[in-house]
Amino acid sequence: MEYYNEDSVLFLDGKFVKAKEAGGSLFSQTLHYGYGVFEGIRSYYTIHGTKIFKPYEHFDRLRRSCEFLNIPFAYSLEELTQLSYQVLEKNNLTNAYIRPVVMTGENLTLTSAQESSLMICAWEWDKYFDHREATVCISSYQRSNPKSTKLEAKVCGHYVNSILAFSEAKQKGFDGAIMLDAHGFVAEGPGSNFFYEKDGILYTPPRGNILPGITRQTVLEICRELELPVKEKLFRPEELFEADSAFFCGTAAEISAVASIEGQKLNKPWKASLGLIVQEAYKNIVMEKSHAYVIV
Ligand code: PMP
Repeated sequence: MEYYNEDSVLFLDGKFVKAKEAGGSLFSQTLHYGYGVFEGIRSYYTIHGTKIFKPYEHFDRLRRSCEFLNIPFAYSLEELTQLSYQVLEKNNLTNAYIRPVVMTGENLTLTSAQESSLMICAWEWDKYFDHREATVCISSYQRSNPKSTKLEAKVCGHYVNSILAFSEAKQKGFDGAIMLDAHGFVAEGPGSNFFYEKDGILYTPPRGNILPGITRQTVLEICRELELPVKEKLFRPEELFEADSAFFCGTAAEISAVASIEGQKLNKPWKASLGLIVQEAYKNIVMEKSHAYVIV
């Protein structure tokens, strides 16, 4: 993945600067302690031109993440959206991944941030990713206890947990991982939310031990629109061995099918699953196709 090259431009604290020339402090709490927040946003080349998918929802989560962590946040959602479109334009990007990061200033004590810095960069990303069906394991790494941090904030430091889980899965020969919460219920993937299907109903863990994903919310909206039964409930990994199908969802993951869990194949082929219907609808929505919910 090439994140930037000689010509790439990013937004940093009020200015557009060359990515190669931009730099941050080596004395910030973001670098030393992971005390910073970020977002991951997609843009797609749609029939209406280049469109960022749900920018307000993402920037609102960025604002809330800052609020949870007492990090100063000075931008409006509209301003951030416009800046992101400018980053895309200045880099000639259409199908892209946009990464805003709010970093804290120079301070190595354990006090809340008095100042912050905003960076928005973007890089090219496939039009609509052709995710292959993933083999997944149940991770030995739990999600953090919600009383130990602000779990609903997208905090830089939380991703050490995700890196450990994802690399453990890779080392064991799996494509991905399902992480449990501190009570042994299924929570989410290292970078995506999780749904499974059983007897015509989709199930997903409720909020509390997960990052409340914008894609997850979109899936719930799709289900409502298409009258696909969906329930938010706590469930244990054992239930997954009876599942008909399953998928991860996220801005980068989009809707990606699960082939097997701990080596056990799911009951239904993806082609016959409710997940496929959701995947098609999601693709139509992000691509702004007119009949978003019509499945052909
Ligand atoms: N959970 C985690 C831990 C994530 O990192 C992500 C990706 N941001 C998600 C869920 C999915 O969130 P979204 O749909 O907003 O990308």
